[in-house]
Amino acid sequence: MSTMPIAISGAGVAGMSTALHLAKKGHEVHLLEAAAELSEVGAGLQLSANALRCLEPLGLLPALKAVATAPLSIEMANGRAGSKLTRIPLGTHAEEKYGLPYLVIHRADLQNVLKEAIRAEPNITLHLGCRIQNAVQHEDGVSLEGGLCGRHLETRYACLIAADGVWSKIRKNALNLPSAEFSGRVAYRTTVPIEGVPEHMRNTTGLWMGNKSHLVHYPVHNGSMLNIVAIRREDWHEEHWAYTASTLELRKAFEDWQDEPRQILELSENWTRWALCGLRPDGPWHKGQIALIGDAAHAMLPFMAQGAAMGIEDAYILSSAIEKLGTTSEAFAAYEKARKPRVARVVRQAINNERIYHLPMPGCFARDMVLKTSSPESLLAKFDWIYGWKPEDDALN
Ligand SMILES: Cc1cc2nc3c(=O)[nH]c(=O)nc-3n(C[C@H](O)[C@H](O)[C@H](O)COP(=O)(O)OP(=O)(O)OC[C@H]3O[C@@H](n4cnc5c(N)ncnc54)[C@H](O)[C@@H]3O)c2cc1C
Repeated sequence: MSTMPIAISGAGVAGMSTALHLAKKGHEVHLLEAAAELSEVGAGLQLSANALRCLEPLGLLPALKAVATAPLSIEMANGRAGSKLTRIPLGTHAEEKYGLPYLVIHRADLQNVLKEAIRAEPNITLHLGCRIQNAVQHEDGVSLEGGLCGRHLETRYACLIAADGVWSKIRKNALNLPSAEFSGRVAYRTTVPIEGVPEHMRNTTGLWMGNKSHLVHYPVHNGSMLNIVAIRREDWHEEHWAYTASTLELRKAFEDWQDEPRQILELSENWTRWALCGLRPDGPWHKGQIALIGDAAHAMLPFMAQGAAMGIEDAYILSSAIEKLGTTSEAFAAYEKARKPRVARVVRQAINNERIYHLPMPGCFARDMVLKTSSPESLLAKFDWIYGWKPEDDALN
């Protein structure tokens, strides 16, 4: 094992998960984060069993369960017609089927759980306010270029794992790969106190579908808040994350929907909007001693709610590859080979989901009929390959 530390740029969910796995395997890790403090936007995340399976060995399940909710079902409905189409069972059904629950969680709560675990881990040094712009490979390791974090930038690292998100500087500057592209879709997000939310919405995930748009809601923060996301096609694009949105414009965009979903939009006056951007997952995801992970490698559109889950799976598989092959280019090649087919399949599924959710008339009639007449269990079973995944399925060669 190299005696040099491993550098990870970016302390998002992928970077923090990777740091924890590597530290548990005895590696010294420097986690270099651009933000001066770790704070997450007020939004939610669905954490399915496949992601939890990779966090379980880190001992994080009890802390996650304490702040997350396991919704009883996903209720799918047609937003313009107002008709309820199906109720796919989650709760104990999903937990028995996949061996772990399907959780929904506030991003800040997930981040806090990971942050506490990192603080308790002596093998990890977290450097905040450290924006890594580029990396140079040498015969004896990798050096980093960046600002604001002082002398540790002079350190040589055994390798660099770039977990710096969809706008990855390492992807662009060190690997010369294309940057993310705007997808023509925008997400509007908010969270509201659960007290003002109708009782029947407090323990389920709701999915309302419409022409070129859909609306999702689920409880977060141990059931004390409701997370709401509205996604639609829109020609607005600003790089980076959250911008304040016009509530009036948002409501206008959904004015031809039925009262029930429109009332969900009325629950909040404070929305942020995010331009949704994506990367082709076909790589490459590594060069020499530098590897990309999470959104930096394969940012996807959120129609399968699996972007963070794929980063969490990446973290498990990449750290296993390093355990097996050391901090070598071979380890990164094995990680890339093992992960790419699955991530590409999830990306295709997300694209297909969008097509189904956003169907205009008359196509949506056929969709609604299929959803109404299929058994809810069979609808969930279509995603067994995602939620039932185990790390052994992405075998390292
Ligand atoms: C509307 C929406 C809903 C979603 N819902 C879900 C869901 O339900 N389930 C799910 O699994 N996924 C979901 N996703 C996807 C998920 O949010 C992302 O895939 C995930 O957050 C990516 O994690 P990451 O760690 O790769 O990157 P990020 O979370 O972007 O983290 C990157 C980190 O790197 C830091 N950084 C950036 N540049 C530098 C630099 N130069 N140097 C050092 N640090 C740097 C950033 O500050 C940040 O901390 C959703 C996405 C959207 C937009």
